[in-house]
Amino acid sequence: MNKTFDELIALLKEYNPEEVEKVTNAYNYAKEMHKGQYRESGEEYITHPVNVAYILAEMHADGDTICAGLLHDTIEDTPATKEDIAHFFNQNVANLVDGVTKISKLNFSSKKDEASANTRKIIVGITTDVRIIIIKLADRLHNMRTIEYKKSFKQKENALETMEIFVPLAYYIGAYRIKSELEDISLKCLLPDVYQSIKDKKEKIESDSNEMLKEMLQKIQRILLDKNIPNYIKIRTKNIYGIYKKISEGCRIYDIHDLLALKIMVDDIDKCYQTLRYVHELYHPVNEKFKDYICNPKTNMYRSLHTTVFSPEGRLVQAQIRTHDMDKVASFGLATYWDIKKGEARYTMQKDLKNKYQFFKSLIEINKMFGDNEEFVRQVKSELFSDKIYVYTMGGQTIELPKGSTIVDFAYRIDSELGNTLVGAFVNDKYVDVNYELKNKDRVKVLTDDLSYGPREDWLNVAKTTYARRMIREFNRKI
Ligand code: MN
Repeated sequence: MNKTFDELIALLKEYNPEEVEKVTNAYNYAKEMHKGQYRESGEEYITHPVNVAYILAEMHADGDTICAGLLHDTIEDTPATKEDIAHFFNQNVANLVDGVTKISKLNFSSKKDEASANTRKIIVGITTDVRIIIIKLADRLHNMRTIEYKKSFKQKENALETMEIFVPLAYYIGAYRIKSELEDISLKCLLPDVYQSIKDKKEKIESDSNEMLKEMLQKIQRILLDKNIPNYIKIRTKNIYGIYKKISEGCRIYDIHDLLALKIMVDDIDKCYQTLRYVHELYHPVNEKFKDYICNPKTNMYRSLHTTVFSPEGRLVQAQIRTHDMDKVASFGLATYWDIKKGEARYTMQKDLKNKYQFFKSLIEINKMFGDNEEFVRQVKSELFSDKIYVYTMGGQTIELPKGSTIVDFAYRIDSELGNTLVGAFVNDKYVDVNYELKNKDRVKVLTDDLSYGPREDWLNVAKTTYARRMIREFNRKI
């Protein structure tokens, strides 16, 4: 599974040949610095940074990022300093390596203020250059891929940390491919027997349904070509952790509506909807399972049409229909900008992060609000690294909120004036009080009154999100 430096260069040449020299220099420097160091597997240490860089190159990362991937452990584990890296490469690479070094000290459970202060610095740092998270995710992914060489308790510890911190981060930037792999390896470390039994079942289902899926694939392919819609179709099964989660919610394995899926990639949005029609004409859809994430993207910018249909054998099969670009976003999330937007990718990424990805807006808000480091870390954990719910505005926009959020949180998330004049709400057409706890998929219509008393101080007990609480306090300070 491990890749060599030559393979890295070959991959880089495919999309960014101008950077080969710089990347080769970074490799030589890292190799020299890590000389005499070995991994637990017995391999030379340099294999690790090479593989981290390879994972980044698979996402078509820019040259500076690949260099930072190669150098990411030099500040921490060798005599090299940030200044050295800035001197031999450039300031950007030095900042990236420094940022990644700091993330390795991220600690959510420590009660020491020092640790909290550090965690805060890192989290806030992420908002200045998202490439740091992406490099860190690649680093964690390779460490998890090679975790079998670590002692059993260390494996469990790393798996828990991965589930607590890195899986949510991967989700927030929409990097599903990394997220799924991290989840599966973590489950394997934490519950090896459960992992194995689901894996066996999954493999059996895959081999049992392979013929049928291929037949569906060819049938769809044929009709699309007939209608002049060039396409590329792949078969995919849900990841093991995803199946585990469904089963632990009480679902039987064959009732999981997206256990088996066909990913259908076409050239543009019009063709997505045309494809949907032909898929539905061939196979009966389960009406309530249709989702349009193209016009209604997920809060991490994932876009696709999802529909579940009855296969010829009566089993449920999901079709995920999207453009090729949307498919790249679905695998790597924000990191995809490297590929789609070239040159200015970095700035577009940072801009979109602040404007479109709700996670980062909340992060910035929490940072503004909490002076105390320990409280900051506690709030980030409970608001962002915890269960989420997704509810709809009357206009159909999806809003992401931490589980336990109420009408008050919802109103302030939409607009502060809405919160300040809030008197109640209709949820799914039924009247509720402001302290109503929202559930997934609720449709919320907020009721306001310009003559309302305004947010009472006891709403602080009703609001879960930082922004709502801040606005309530501010309002009460003024009167
Ligand atoms: Mn590393």
